[in-house]
Amino acid sequence: MSIQVDMESLLLEVLTETSSSASEGKVASYIPELSKADPSLAGVAVMTPDGLFQAGDSSHPFTLQSISKIITLMAALEQRGVEEVFARVGSEPTGDPFNSIVKLETAEHKPLNPMINAGAIAVCSLIPGSSVEERFSIILEMLEAILGRTVQIDQAVYTSEKETGHRNRALAYFLKDTGVLEGDVEEVLDLYFQQCSILVDCTDLARIGMFLAAKGITWSGQRLVSASIVRLVTTFMVTCGMYNASGEFAIQVGIPAKSGVSGGILGAVPGRFGIGTFGPALDPKGNSIVGVKMLRELSHRLDLSIF
Ligand code: GLU
Repeated sequence: MSIQVDMESLLLEVLTETSSSASEGKVASYIPELSKADPSLAGVAVMTPDGLFQAGDSSHPFTLQSISKIITLMAALEQRGVEEVFARVGSEPTGDPFNSIVKLETAEHKPLNPMINAGAIAVCSLIPGSSVEERFSIILEMLEAILGRTVQIDQAVYTSEKETGHRNRALAYFLKDTGVLEGDVEEVLDLYFQQCSILVDCTDLARIGMFLAAKGITWSGQRLVSASIVRLVTTFMVTCGMYNASGEFAIQVGIPAKSGVSGGILGAVPGRFGIGTFGPALDPKGNSIVGVKMLRELSHRLDLSIF
């Protein structure tokens, strides 16, 4: 049997075995537009040096949400350098929910890491440019170079989040007050809401995962970011990428991954694969129920854990 048939039948098998668990989860509703997602959707894609393999709703579009944090972090590190970025954001896991405000006052003013909302908003403020458009184009340029295609934002999700993102607004104004956030707060928030609203599908996530697995080299062979930046970003994915379930995910699955509240999970198996999963029904910590199950199965069957 060819690799293609093997991988595609494995993906279909894993998807079929896990997709019914979607009924145990709930679609995110704190961003009103996301609550319209169909909780029964489930898709998976894997990108290997041999090509792209997929099953289920792998071409169904969804918004990048928190997965965008890894793209912006790479762009900020490229543009501003390691020292400037880590002057504004720390590198420790929090154990708190992704949108928590509590540690900003009780621990240190610097957000604990770039994967929680406070940290990602601080990182956004470091993307240079004289307008939101100019700054957003830096993030888009990096993402589009990785994907080899242009991307769009979901206007409805963007507007919905901009209108209701009070918690993120609170985080950003707190960061401005403590001198962590650079520049105009509403402009930085606008940039953050736009990056979260970028439309992708599982195959895109698999492609980004493969880019990270290849240490910063695109499918067409272009070195886009340094291997040391990829090492930093994938380390954050291990320690903080799956919200406050990152420890358990490391034990159960053992691959660098980043999830988003619209139900996507991006996985990168160093030197081997990129994986993208999608399933909008989430567990209480905000990770896709079906996505985590599929990744656990794939990790066991293909021996993917890095530990
Ligand atoms: N746009 C979402 C928010 O800021 C992203 C959260 C996530 O995907 O974890 O609340």
